[in-house]
Amino acid sequence: MSPSTKRRQPPDERSRRARHEEMVVRARGDGTYEVESPSGGVYDVDLDAGECTCPDHRFRDARCKHLRRVAIEITLGEVPAPGERAATCASCGDDLFVERDITDPVYCEDCTLETGETVVDRETGKLVVVVESTEDRASDVRITGRGWSVADHHSNRDYDRDDRVVDVLYPLDRGVSPADISPRDLSRYAFPRGRLERPS
Ligand SMILES: [Zn+2]
Ligand SMILES: [Zn+2]
Repeated sequence: MSPSTKRRQPPDERSRRARHEEMVVRARGDGTYEVESPSGGVYDVDLDAGECTCPDHRFRDARCKHLRRVAIEITLGEVPAPGERAATCASCGDDLFVERDITDPVYCEDCTLETGETVVDRETGKLVVVVESTEDRASDVRITGRGWSVADHHSNRDYDRDDRVVDVLYPLDRGVSPADISPRDLSRYAFPRGRLERPS
């Protein structure tokens, strides 16, 4: 019998239940999950260890429906993966997951400014070109040639001290394409992300 004519196996019962039963999954924030079964039972799932406190797992050593359900919800983006936490984008307010040890403020992929992008400096209304969106915090980055940090610079004091630093080339006259300008003609600055916005 060739593989194509082989009868498909009926879906495994645990897999079917993992997908279709009404279970409530909550991330505890320490990499483990609490799963509430339709029967009312509440079980602890440690996905990395492959363990669940339900009888099916403990007595039969099965990859129970709770373990499977947690894996499914992670894949669907419903709960954070182990090592991640839920967060809110500081720019658009969308929910996202980030590595657990990354503190706020955080930005979603859409709100992370891209290299070469032209954005507006909210303090001056001028256009600047993004060189790099960094992971550094404004309070940790010292301004070249000055004795203070990006956060302590007088024009940055209205922004979050822990905001991400974005390196930009500044300023650019409106109507000028960044492609027509030599980077050497421009000054490089480090700004808090919140100081920059996309042109409307
Ligand atoms: Zn279980
Ligand atoms: Zn966002």
